[in-house]
Amino acid sequence: MEHRGVTVWFTGLSGSGKSTIARALEARLREMGTKLEVLDGDIVRTNLTKGLGFSKEDRDENIRRIGFVSHLLTRNGVIVLVSAISPYRAVRDEVRDRIDDFVEVFAHAPLEVCEERDVKGLYKKARSGEIANFTGISDPYEEPLNPEVVCETHKSTVDECVDQILSKLEEKGYLPAGVLA
Ligand code: ADP
Repeated sequence: MEHRGVTVWFTGLSGSGKSTIARALEARLREMGTKLEVLDGDIVRTNLTKGLGFSKEDRDENIRRIGFVSHLLTRNGVIVLVSAISPYRAVRDEVRDRIDDFVEVFAHAPLEVCEERDVKGLYKKARSGEIANFTGISDPYEEPLNPEVVCETHKSTVDECVDQILSKLEEKGYLPAGVLA
């Protein structure tokens, strides 16, 4: 299928739904036959950005490296799905400026909901002090001011979130018009 390269960048708290929505979106885009790559923050931290920690400096470096790879792929016509907490607005905007074809998706649910989900058991550890610098608990999260898409994951289903993003990609001309009909 003819389409344009774009980075779809998921930002949000741990447990807000970034990876879940990205995986479901990946499945839909694969069915359409798009050129696709997925960069999941947890996996990237085991290779591309291995050794980086969770200080502001290291978090920013993590995002810059992911942004660099996304840029290379995007300019070669690939749809790149990035899910990374990416808590700092300035470096997200830096990556946006570099890539140009950039759709920011804010995966949002109240902290209490994310903590209740506690998908990886990390909130419990953060509350007990076992993990330091945990976003939302002991480290900041700067919400995006103008994201292209906001997925309210405590109100919408995963499929509804995916449809929201696909519509935005079509509206912005990254997917051909009519492809969702
Ligand atoms: P993150 O990647 O942001 O850390 P995950 O995707 O790992 O978050 O976890 C999100 C959790 O929330 C999953 O258990 C998922 O099933 C649940 N969930 C409930 N509703 C939604 C929704 N609309 N979108 C995404 N996840 C949802």
